[in-house]
Amino acid sequence: MSDLSGKRALVTGGGSGMGAAIARALADAGATVVISGRRMEPLAELAATSPGMLAMTADVTDEASVKALFKRITSEVGELDIVVANAGAAESAPFHRTSLDLWRQMLDVNLTSVFLTFQQALAGMMKRKQGRLIAIASTSSLKGYAYVSAYSAAKHGVLGLTRSLALEFADTAITVNAVCPGFTLTPMLERSIETIVEKTGKSRDEAIATLTKTSPQRRFVLPEEVAQSVLYLCGPHSASVTGQALSISGGEV
Ligand code: NAP
Repeated sequence: MSDLSGKRALVTGGGSGMGAAIARALADAGATVVISGRRMEPLAELAATSPGMLAMTADVTDEASVKALFKRITSEVGELDIVVANAGAAESAPFHRTSLDLWRQMLDVNLTSVFLTFQQALAGMMKRKQGRLIAIASTSSLKGYAYVSAYSAAKHGVLGLTRSLALEFADTAITVNAVCPGFTLTPMLERSIETIVEKTGKSRDEAIATLTKTSPQRRFVLPEEVAQSVLYLCGPHSASVTGQALSISGGEV
């Protein structure tokens, strides 16, 4: 296991699901971890479980809010070594019913959020020429799925951003990678299961089977499995891994 003692990390969307599992794994490895999101309640609840975690609210779609978050982290915690852009949201709709509003929401929360977060993170990392940037992308970054064209377009964009940034910083000790989970057991997936039940009249078990059948392993990914891959990308043995999309999907893609 990586020893991250003395390292400082930020996990956006760290109050629930994958972000919470990533924050726990980083804190267990010895890092000081700032978790952020819009709602203080889940953040405070998680932070109370570990002395190495601090809760700070921020909206990753709002430039001023992201800037204020990084300013606060620099003054209260110090320069960040690790930034995990995990916050995101998934709304589904057939393409012909995808409004411009929904399209923009999906791009804002899943792609522009990574741009804003990484840009602020790099301001500090560039000074020290070291750092780890990780985007929680998706198998939707690597293949299409019906009824989530806006989400998938945004997640494909995250990969383009990751690969380009990795090249821009290849002559430093800053690495930039994307982790691409398949369907993972989190509150977001719970909402997707509910939507399928609601919109198709399928039972919960049938809805689950519809989703798990996309994975050759015929199961959902666990948030802890994603967290361990993030831990690897933060540790000393991944220094030459950059610009990569690490698929955690039971062989789906
Ligand atoms: P989740 O439990 O719904 O977590 C999403 C987190 O993002 C929440 O903590 C939420 O906190 C935060 N968030 C949403 N909008 C935000 C905003 N505007 N500003 C700041 N924080 C915001 O879902 P999850 O499954 O763990 O998702 C984590 C990441 O994994 C996402 O990027 C998602 O696209 C990706 N992913 C998920 C799956 C899956 O099957 N679950 C598969 C592949 C990829 P607040 O509501 O308090 O802001």
